[in-house]
Amino acid sequence: MPELPEVEVIRRELLAQLPGRTIEHIACSRHRLRTAIPRQPLQEHILGRSIRTIDRRAKYLLIRLSDGASLVIHLGMSGKLTLVDRRTPRHKHDHLVLSLDDARDLRLNDSRRFGSVVVWPAAHAETAERVFSAGEGVEPFGAEFNEDYLLRIASNRKIPVKALLMHAKLIAGIGNIYANEILFATRIHPLTPACQLKRRDWQKIVTEARRILQQAIDTGGSTIADFLGTSGHPGYFQLQFKVYGRKDAPCTHCRQPIMRTTLAGRATYFCPLCQSTDNCHH
Ligand SMILES: [Zn+2]
Repeated sequence: MPELPEVEVIRRELLAQLPGRTIEHIACSRHRLRTAIPRQPLQEHILGRSIRTIDRRAKYLLIRLSDGASLVIHLGMSGKLTLVDRRTPRHKHDHLVLSLDDARDLRLNDSRRFGSVVVWPAAHAETAERVFSAGEGVEPFGAEFNEDYLLRIASNRKIPVKALLMHAKLIAGIGNIYANEILFATRIHPLTPACQLKRRDWQKIVTEARRILQQAIDTGGSTIADFLGTSGHPGYFQLQFKVYGRKDAPCTHCRQPIMRTTLAGRATYFCPLCQSTDNCHH
């Protein structure tokens, strides 16, 4: 499942390609994604417009059009966007095809159909965006993501710190892989109740979250599961994970074998020595 860095990498690729292009034709499959594809609004509010810019909020791509409307895409579990020559044969799971004025298609392929496509018509785009944005957690690179905020949201929550980091309504874009890596970098055990962490721990989490996410963006996202870039090539540089997927491999810091457990159904990796539960009580 793409996390913040993967979506950000896709945004940057699209930003280098799409602005100025006009959408000349739109085709949708018969299937519904996580929600139904808004066929009629696509034809009414997106068709014929030119693309102004591409932004990201949480794990959503906001394709902003010249007249103020936006097309909002979430890649779900398996969604990928490809930008291909219009003559390229379509695939079975291409659920949305935007044909551009340069003879290329922007295609949304989603085999598991957990993705979503939403249209914000120009007349309601600002309101729609405000409501949408209020429902998403703070951006890890935004000023609101700081130790005061984290202390506050953790104060009445006994959930493990890893679950808090992955709580999309509180913090945007941190999924399972990066939650594991951030906690290893801060030497905090993933099962530590969030309310037990001190200001100093949250400061470290803020610093390490930004460092790790930035590193992942810089290296072009990580190659995981079905994730492909907009070019359709799975050729991204693989980020060197320190704990994720490394059960029984030696810890890069102390050589102790990395352990794996399951938390809320998600694989959770940690070093039993570096992330001892004693480490968080200073
Ligand atoms: Zn270790």
